[in-house]
Amino acid sequence: MPVVRRLPRAFGDRSSPFLGTLILFAGLIATLVAIWGAGSIKRGEIDLGQYMVRHLRYTYAEIVALDGLLAAASMAPTDPRTERLVADAADRFHVRLEMLTALSRGPMVDEGTAFAPLACDLMDGLDRLVGAGAPLDEALLADLRGISADLVRATNDYTRGIEAEIDEALRLQAAETSSAWLGVVGSVLMLLVLSMLSIGLFSRNRSIVSQLQTASGRDSLTGTANRRGFTEWAHGMSQASSAPAHAVMVFDLDRFKAVNDRLGHPAGDAILKAAAAWLREEFGADGVVARWGGDEFVVATRIGRGGVADVCARLDARRVRPVTVDVGAEVVPIAFSCGVAVWPADAPTIEEAITCADAALYAVKEAGRGSTMVFTPGLMTKRRHVEALRDGLARALDEHELFLEFQPQVDVLRGTVVAAEALVRWRCGRTGRIVPPGEFIAIAEQSGQIATLDRFVLEEACATAARWREAGLRLRVAVNVSPHSFRSSVLAREVAGTLARWGLAPEDLEIEITEGVLLAECDQVGESLAALSALGVRLALDDFGTGYSNIAYLVRLEPDLLKIDRSFLVEGDRETRASVLQGVLRLAEALGAETLVEGIETREQLRFAMAAGCSLAQGFHFARPMAGDAIPGFCRDFARPVRGEGTCPTTDAAPVALAS
Ligand code: C2E
Ligand code: MG
Ligand code: MG
Repeated sequence: MPVVRRLPRAFGDRSSPFLGTLILFAGLIATLVAIWGAGSIKRGEIDLGQYMVRHLRYTYAEIVALDGLLAAASMAPTDPRTERLVADAADRFHVRLEMLTALSRGPMVDEGTAFAPLACDLMDGLDRLVGAGAPLDEALLADLRGISADLVRATNDYTRGIEAEIDEALRLQAAETSSAWLGVVGSVLMLLVLSMLSIGLFSRNRSIVSQLQTASGRDSLTGTANRRGFTEWAHGMSQASSAPAHAVMVFDLDRFKAVNDRLGHPAGDAILKAAAAWLREEFGADGVVARWGGDEFVVATRIGRGGVADVCARLDARRVRPVTVDVGAEVVPIAFSCGVAVWPADAPTIEEAITCADAALYAVKEAGRGSTMVFTPGLMTKRRHVEALRDGLARALDEHELFLEFQPQVDVLRGTVVAAEALVRWRCGRTGRIVPPGEFIAIAEQSGQIATLDRFVLEEACATAARWREAGLRLRVAVNVSPHSFRSSVLAREVAGTLARWGLAPEDLEIEITEGVLLAECDQVGESLAALSALGVRLALDDFGTGYSNIAYLVRLEPDLLKIDRSFLVEGDRETRASVLQGVLRLAEALGAETLVEGIETREQLRFAMAAGCSLAQGFHFARPMAGDAIPGFCRDFARPVRGEGTCPTTDAAPVALAS
């Protein structure tokens, strides 16, 4: 364990991609300084050499001139002007030699050349020649002429020698500069490669750190235990000879995903940390708190004298006064759902107790979240049934066990069928049982299978409507679309595509939504609704009156049809029902929406709906859901009712008098 703790600090926390970069920059700068330094030394030598060459050339000219003068003097050694000319030339030669002597301390002077001794001999001889006065010494003149001739050659050689050295130095300098630049380019490339390696190592180290933290049993974000840490704790507990009873709780943060999407991941992280801190403070001292993944926590805490009821009371208190997190944009209260089981009373192992608590949590979620439920064996049976259905549904979608039935919607005053609602059915391949949608839609919504299911229904419903049209019947088809599908940005595009595929107009389709759609805290839902309206598809608000729609939502939705739930027909006394129904009809009128009463089963209910002013109806009284191919026949047979006398066919074959 200590190794695990030390490693991240040694490798991860302090390793930085910038360290390598810094070292390389230092190296690069050193290289550049070296190049500049080396260049400047060479430059000095070359400059000096070139200066020397220039003076040697002047000297050469002087010696050639002197040689000529000596030749002239040997022809007229007695002429006093000759002696003066030679004396002047000797002076100039002297100055030249002094300059050359000063320059010859430079690095390029080759002391082994013939130039220096010959120049000295010539200078000495001239001094002697001029010092003796006129007439000039002819023998000395002859010697000096020999020396000057030799010196002309030596000067030439000396100059060439230095020029050759300068050429060589220039060549070397060019070679060194280009190899130095190659070095620079190499350094830069190396710098890039090492930086990338450094960055790679840095990210790898971070992942190593998180792996090590996982291995160490700690959740890196919240600092609580992770699954592994919990398992270790549970293992230790089950090894203990007399472990006390523990409440095992599974927590799920309510609406966490929506908050995370809306306020961003840093806000989500802050909420998770605050939830973890609260759980640790509340239960950590007597047990263990573990982040199970996402927004789920598992907590085990020792049960005191108050039993599991005490634990639930503590949770309820937190529900009343929730922990809040200030995420900048707003203060978010932490709402949670929780399932509780008792170990070892409910299950022999802690792992199984988690499964029991999870079953209780599942029941909480089904009941609408935001509460705590204590496990009972019945919940497990229900959970297993649900799991079996979920697995079966995956197979049903693959193996075409789903099919549609259609229930007509009628206008009882005009005696027409105005639409047919598509209702999905599942013929279970294993049991042969027809599973009603009430059993599997919610499961499909929870498991994420609903999108596939809704797509299937839409496609199948439009295909059936296209078949009706081929049979000479143009009838609108109504399709129920789950609130989940409205969170998808492609819903409207898929609807448009399906209509186009089957050659249907937008008004041939009505999409039924429930009030759950209106409650979704998601911008995409509003966008999907707007896109469908823009497409020209009709929108119906299903089961109206069973949800929590407020007027603002309704006004924003602008539904084409309100489908009034059958509870208006059966619940409460007749008078109250009548006035509530009339109120709903007035509301619909104000919204510019039509109304349809759902679930009409009896003649009495039909009279009641019509008396309130509603003529669109759907229910077993007119027809039970039927196969798509039966719809054209039903429409043909549907008799035109006449107010007071009219009849219409029913599935129980009894004609219904519409008037009271
Ligand atoms: P819903 O959309 O309100 O559909 C009407 C339900 O009422 C249907 O039940 C229908 O059979 C039933 N019903 C019709 N007339 C009567 C009546 O006179 N009396 C009574 N008691 N019930 C009547 P079903 O087919 O079991 O569907 C239940 C719910 O499942 C639907 O309610 C709808 O919310 C959902 N559902 C059905 N098919 C689909 C579908 O394809 N996709 C989605 N997302 N949901 C669907
Ligand atoms: Mg419906
Ligand atoms: Mg309905």
